[in-house]
Amino acid sequence: MKRFAVTEFGRPLCTLVEDDPVPRGTEVVVDLERCGVCHTDLHLREGHYDLGGGRRLSLAERGVTPPVTLGHEILGRIAQPGPEAGDLAAGRRVLVYPWIGCGTCHRCREGDENLCAAGRCLGVHRPGGFAEKVVVPHPRYLIAVDGLDPSAAATLACSGLTAYSALRKVGGAPARDWLLLIGAGGLGQSALGLARALGHARVAVADTAPDKRARAAALGADLVLDPADPEARRVLLGLETGLSAAIDFVGNAETARFALDALRRGGRYVAVGMFGGEIPLSLPLLPLRALTLTGSYVGNLGELNDLVALVQGHGLTLVATETVPLAQAEDAMRRLAAGDVAGRIVLAHGE
Ligand SMILES: [Zn+2]
Ligand SMILES: [Zn+2]
Repeated sequence: MKRFAVTEFGRPLCTLVEDDPVPRGTEVVVDLERCGVCHTDLHLREGHYDLGGGRRLSLAERGVTPPVTLGHEILGRIAQPGPEAGDLAAGRRVLVYPWIGCGTCHRCREGDENLCAAGRCLGVHRPGGFAEKVVVPHPRYLIAVDGLDPSAAATLACSGLTAYSALRKVGGAPARDWLLLIGAGGLGQSALGLARALGHARVAVADTAPDKRARAAALGADLVLDPADPEARRVLLGLETGLSAAIDFVGNAETARFALDALRRGGRYVAVGMFGGEIPLSLPLLPLRALTLTGSYVGNLGELNDLVALVQGHGLTLVATETVPLAQAEDAMRRLAAGDVAGRIVLAHGE
């Protein structure tokens, strides 16, 4: 089998050819059909995140060491279950939950494996989906996706799940309260569709790019704003019930400032994007305005199961996808880095 891996941070992907994996214990080998290409894959290739002020979070210091086979939006067919994996239907199409934890700590036992400090995520710590075959450690990470387009379904594992889990954190009264989504790229578009399915009746979308604002308007946003326009803050502050929550899919100093300035008392800021940077925070304003600041990182297995059911039930397509051959993984990464992607690029294999 072939895999496309980072063998040195900051360098193009290398093609590695090796023997097909043999599943042990509860492992299941999945034949890859689709794998989405995500901004996290770019960060993983670079080997660091920008923390602001010239500081960097090094992935090598966080236990991510090359070779790294990228790809965590994995969909495929069950090829071979291990001897303890139970009775699985070979050939069944499944979506793979990639945000796997140690399985024994409190976070994992409470079902929040994505928050495990000793994570063993596919496409990060374990080989991911930029490969012809993927080894999944247990069949419970496999989710049937009957009736869904395979490319669109693959993106649920990260893009869709990240949007969904962030939406589950905003609280409030969806039918009445205003929700702001910052960033109308793939995540913002997914969140808009999901917000509607979850009953959010008042959704504003902010993006500095005119074409993305136009897209959000076409997708039915109730209010579309340019965060660089000084008038935008006044519009949000003048909303009848105020701005209850903001989900920031960009995550830089400007977007965080924009959201925090616009929230009503008791409002919530949910940080998702990791564009990078830092902001000064006036501490007395936290209690005075009773603000909640929270981060949201992908989502847990239960949320992915709920999300798949929601998407199936509402017939949702969260993000436009462009499907290209798996062998073009490096080209897809370059296009994503250059910002030359309208929706999500999904790598395809085996059809
Ligand atoms: Zn991702
Ligand atoms: Zn754990």
